[in-house]
Amino acid sequence: MEIQENIPLNNKTWFETGGAAKYFAEPVLIDDYKSALDFAKQKNCEVFLLGCGANILMSDDGFNGLVIKPANKSCEIIFAEKDKNNVLARAGAGTKIDDFISFCLSSNLTGFEEFSGIPGTIGGAVFINIHYFEFLLSDFLISARVINKSTGEIVEVSRDWFDFGYDKSKLHDGNWILFDAVFKLKKVDEIETAIARGRSIEIIRHRENRYPTERTCGSFFQNFSPEEINFEINGKKQIHIAYYLDKLGIKGELSVGGAHVSRKHANMIENDGTATSTDILNLAKKMRELVKEKYGIVPKLECQLIGF
Ligand SMILES: Cc1cc2nc3c(=O)[nH]c(=O)nc-3n(C[C@H](O)[C@H](O)[C@H](O)COP(=O)(O)OP(=O)(O)OC[C@H]3O[C@@H](n4cnc5c(N)ncnc54)[C@H](O)[C@@H]3O)c2cc1C
Repeated sequence: MEIQENIPLNNKTWFETGGAAKYFAEPVLIDDYKSALDFAKQKNCEVFLLGCGANILMSDDGFNGLVIKPANKSCEIIFAEKDKNNVLARAGAGTKIDDFISFCLSSNLTGFEEFSGIPGTIGGAVFINIHYFEFLLSDFLISARVINKSTGEIVEVSRDWFDFGYDKSKLHDGNWILFDAVFKLKKVDEIETAIARGRSIEIIRHRENRYPTERTCGSFFQNFSPEEINFEINGKKQIHIAYYLDKLGIKGELSVGGAHVSRKHANMIENDGTATSTDILNLAKKMRELVKEKYGIVPKLECQLIGF
């Protein structure tokens, strides 16, 4: 596996901004991952795992280390349970979420279509425990293989190991790389598969109406936990950050350089094609200050800042 140098990342992130990676590798096999990690050790440089870049903001100065972009993208059915209603399927870390959904539906397996239209890879999805309405990726994950970043050792782990929460998993400690993951899905007949396909199309249509779909990272800030809010609005604690941002009237109005708050969603920032990552960060800082000034609560980032 070749380790490339000075590779631009603006065409590899959803915001389409950011500088270059000093080193860049696309491992497929476990041995490729091991040699990439050995390389980083020799060069004494940091390692960053990049999926589709749908939840990160890459600094305009780029990343002064090794960017590993998982390229193991195969999906397979590994086990059919005795009751025949449930099936286990494995997906490589570099598999796009939508490609895994297509694989599942073509094998008459349903459940994962709830995540239709969410950009990203299986690696990035497990990292943040993707969610859409009441569905969480952790409802489906059964086990996974992870690579220890310091030793290169591969370990098989079960769901509990991940200690999943809202926007949270064990992968946040930075010591592990997800190699692949196994999900439990429901085996159905052709008619139910057709219904699930229809639902997938409907979810995508709904998302396209509600959210911007390009040059954004989705939600920039996290929702609050109830403990962070010590006041009520209309008799209840409002935990949704978009509620507060919406009330500020900044949708489609507030901007910095080529970055603006989306017209469709107050918690999403869009690049009009000319923004730098610095514009995006400065706009996010303004949004955070406005919420803090008016409501006395401080929004936390959902989007990860890399190389800043
Ligand atoms: C338009 C839009 C809509 C979105 N809607 C939703 C939504 O409805 N629900 C939702 O939950 N999210 C949503 N998101 C956020 C985003 O899609 C998810 O966070 C997704 O999981 C990001 O995956 P990625 O592969 O692009 O990860 P990246 O953004 O590339 O990386 C995110 C993090 O995952 C880590 N990572 C990636 N691969 C691995 C690996 N193999 N091992 C260890 N760590 C790894 C990275 O190091 C980084 O820390 C949306 C984003 C956009 C742009």
